[in-house]
Amino acid sequence: MTVAEPRIAIVGAGPAGIYAADILLDRVPTASIDLFEKLPAPYGLVRYGVAPDHPRIRKITDALHEVLGHPRIRLRCNIDVGGDIGIDELRAAYDGVIVATGADLDVRLDIPGIDLPGSFGAADFVAWYDGHPDAPRTWPLAAESVAVLGAGNVALDVTRILATHASALTHTDTPDAVLDQLGASPLRDVHLFARRGPADVRFSALELRELAEQDDVDVIVDADELALDAHAERMIAQFSQRRTIVRTLTEWAALDPADRTAARRIHLHLRQRPVRLLGTGRVTGIEMERTASDELGRMVGTGELRRYDVGAVYRAVGYRSTPVAGVPFDDELGVVPHAEGRVLDAAGEPIPRLYATGWIKRGPVGLIGSTKSDAAQTVRHLVEDLEAAEEVVRAEDPIAHLGHAVDFDGWLRIDAAERSAGADRGRERTKLVEREEMLRHAKQEQMTEAGR
Ligand SMILES: Cc1cc2nc3c(=O)[nH]c(=O)nc-3n(C[C@H](O)[C@H](O)[C@H](O)COP(=O)(O)OP(=O)(O)OC[C@H]3O[C@@H](n4cnc5c(N)ncnc54)[C@H](O)[C@@H]3O)c2cc1C
Repeated sequence: MTVAEPRIAIVGAGPAGIYAADILLDRVPTASIDLFEKLPAPYGLVRYGVAPDHPRIRKITDALHEVLGHPRIRLRCNIDVGGDIGIDELRAAYDGVIVATGADLDVRLDIPGIDLPGSFGAADFVAWYDGHPDAPRTWPLAAESVAVLGAGNVALDVTRILATHASALTHTDTPDAVLDQLGASPLRDVHLFARRGPADVRFSALELRELAEQDDVDVIVDADELALDAHAERMIAQFSQRRTIVRTLTEWAALDPADRTAARRIHLHLRQRPVRLLGTGRVTGIEMERTASDELGRMVGTGELRRYDVGAVYRAVGYRSTPVAGVPFDDELGVVPHAEGRVLDAAGEPIPRLYATGWIKRGPVGLIGSTKSDAAQTVRHLVEDLEAAEEVVRAEDPIAHLGHAVDFDGWLRIDAAERSAGADRGRERTKLVEREEMLRHAKQEQMTEAGR
């Protein structure tokens, strides 16, 4: 390696950034890494996206935590790259910069009425119930009947959290204020609408089954919506996951309506696409159109319309990345243009020392595990480039003048405060949500030491 002791910056301490750091340290034992994160806490969507009733997935943070404790990683939370510090400043100070900033916005759904009060994006709702510091502290949960639009696992998460009784979440890390508001929700019916048919939905079979595993919540499926056309028959013959999903839906459709007495109901509607939201001052309903598949499996409208009275609509139709100032961004695809992780300029040429990994590279699809193989590809190219690079004198530490970074010890103090708040309530952790409060805990020990 021509660069004897490479210094690498990684932007974003979600799973993609942390896995990239782990793989890089393994490949280049002399490398040191500065890991920048705009929030006071690391872990990205594992902390602020994964649903609180999925503790097994949340536990992935234990493995990520171990990586962060490595002596050659310096964690620098509470630093917004593109705001507090420019990407070019990082490129001048490091031998390589990996952008791993993920995705945090909702894809827009362009139908009439979408901007009415009572129309919400899933990303915003998820950020609220997961206690994201930048999310609003209160959520309007006044409706008795709501619609969720989407055919993927985020739509299932949103449906489950809306329908679940707050008492089922008290053992989780959910902030108290969220539990209180969910507990006061008058909700009775959640209508989950998928544009696709039963053999084409993107739900995972396991997450779908979870809908019916909640206390005092019934899942209702209309058998008429499960009729399989030729395309669906082909799909279930080919893919076992789709077979399992159709089997689950069929079992639910066969349940006796007389036994469906729960206080809350999830109505699963397939082959329906939203046409418009109804209401003048706020959402009072939604108009849906029945869809069908053509011979190639594409969804087409049938012209058959139906209206549902709902007081809120949640769109879970996809996430989208926020561009980072100074890093090229393909607005149409919503990703950083790249060749296997090397970021490309407008002419399609690799930009020296700039790389991307995770959802900002691939788009917002795939589970946490897939960010690992993705990071391996990006790191492989970074290492190739380091091997070919000249040793140069780099600029001084670009954030030495910024006093507000939260380092690993600062994060450990936030972590300890959350565990202590959880212990007071008989659970493992209760999340802190206010940025100021998190920062106060992060700095506490330094302040105590300074005061001594
Ligand atoms: C609602 C939801 C539920 C999910 N549930 C599951 C699940 O149950 N199981 C599963 O396997 N996968 C789940 N996923 C998918 C999983 O979260 C993603 O695969 C994974 O988080 C993507 O990792 P990432 O590091 O690319 O992005 P992210 O997790 O988004 O991390 C990016 C990090 O970069 C930081 N950042 C952004 N901009 C800047 C900046 N300018 N400067 C500094 N830092 C910045 C962000 O704050 C964030 O911490 C879920 C996703 C969503 C949206």
